[in-house]
Amino acid sequence: MMPERHNLKDSLTHPVFKQIGKVSDQLGVETYVVGGFVRDVLLGRKREVFDVDIVTVGSGIDLATKVAASLRPGLKVSVFKNFGTAMFRFNDIDFEFVGARRESYRQESRKPIVEDGTLEDDQNRRDFTINALAVCLNESRFGELLDPFNGIGDLENKIIKTPLAPEITFSDDPLRMLRAIRFATQLDFMIEEKTLEAIQSQCKRVEIVSKERITDEINKIMLTPNPSIGFKLLEKTGLLAIILPEVQKLKGRETKNGIGHKDNFYHTLEVLDRISVNTDNLWLRWSALLHDIAKPVTKRFDPRVGWTFHAHNFVGEKMLPSIFDRLKLPLNEKLKYVQKMVSLHMRPIVLSEEEVTDSAVRRLLFDAGDDIDDLMTLCEADITSKNPEKVSRFLSNFQLVREKLKDIEQRDALRNFQPPVTGEIIMETFSLLPCREIGILKSAIKEAILEGEIHNNYEEAYNFMLAKGEEMGLKAKDV
Ligand code: ATP
Ligand code: MG
Repeated sequence: MMPERHNLKDSLTHPVFKQIGKVSDQLGVETYVVGGFVRDVLLGRKREVFDVDIVTVGSGIDLATKVAASLRPGLKVSVFKNFGTAMFRFNDIDFEFVGARRESYRQESRKPIVEDGTLEDDQNRRDFTINALAVCLNESRFGELLDPFNGIGDLENKIIKTPLAPEITFSDDPLRMLRAIRFATQLDFMIEEKTLEAIQSQCKRVEIVSKERITDEINKIMLTPNPSIGFKLLEKTGLLAIILPEVQKLKGRETKNGIGHKDNFYHTLEVLDRISVNTDNLWLRWSALLHDIAKPVTKRFDPRVGWTFHAHNFVGEKMLPSIFDRLKLPLNEKLKYVQKMVSLHMRPIVLSEEEVTDSAVRRLLFDAGDDIDDLMTLCEADITSKNPEKVSRFLSNFQLVREKLKDIEQRDALRNFQPPVTGEIIMETFSLLPCREIGILKSAIKEAILEGEIHNNYEEAYNFMLAKGEEMGLKAKDV
């Protein structure tokens, strides 16, 4: 897996690296590539988008400006004076420059007081040993690896560990706790015991991290192949109870009169992992995480039937706006979509428990619209029963639902239903002013289509309207 251990020059093939080394030599400063880029090279991790972090023992802004000018006159450099950083994009890669620094923290903020420092100071301030590896770019030492905390060993053993005392590292900047869990999930690494214990003891500190950053890390966890790894760690460390208490409350099982119910937390995580095999859609994954969110608040015990979670889909749908708002997730059509998934998530199952009738499938298609395929994907992931006979019965019923959906869609075009006969036509036909009857007729037409009494076309709907209107005592104008 690992390329040659102490020299990475064969991995630094991008011409910008040589150029940075050359300009650094001219300026008489030492410069290194650090962080995620080095880690991912050593892991052989191929990434579509990535950024490269450059540390120089001098001015990062100065170096970035000079390197950019030497690469291509006019190459735009973004300078962040307040942070002492600068970056440019070259061949679709972001190169970020910073001067080596020393950081000290205050209790109430995760923003450090920063001073110039040595490379060693800079490595000390990094979050994990595997992110603190530095590779020299100066010509005479090009490719030389500096690994003061045995990050290489931790990469080989798949371990997330802080370079310095973990309590201090996490208390200084509690975002690192979420980063630890995110990296453990993305890379499928273990968090070293003392580091994990420190997250447990410092978890409350997460309260000083902005909601946006927290959500950013959750989303990154959410987009990994097995998001359950991250959520189990969040739960174990106490972070979940603070950042997503509603999900925390899914945990646990209760038994009454010898009847138990499943642990909805682990069930939810299983659904989330299962759906992640079939979709990269972040919002469909959020729907999986939140599909049973109202089970704890709707849970009742009925001695005749056991545990019930009545209307947990609708109650869940209503809980979502405040969760999204709190997490600074978008309150637009993304929220609406997740709400729709949560509110409809039981429909295909209920439907396939009984005989799969055309009219039930038509209603489902009408309610789900364009999101019907996503809904089916969610429902299939939701079948986590350990009973193989039950699973195969569900899945074959689902297959039947899918076939009927295809069939009905071709015939009736219900996906984005538009009434084939409009209110204006009804008014015109029966010489009506706006009144109740129009609504009654419109919904009667819709019902007739959903029940399969008529097809979804103008002619059949018009004739149905004439007959129905007459039944209601309305009189059609002579045509
Ligand atoms: P990725 O880009 O895949 O998320 P990365 O390791 O490159 O991973 P970045 O957020 O790009 O992460 O940060 C670059 C480097 O900066 C990290 O590798 C780490 O050394 C350092 N770093 C970033 N955030 C922190 C932090 N909160 N505390 C300490 N060091 C950090
Ligand atoms: Mg990065």
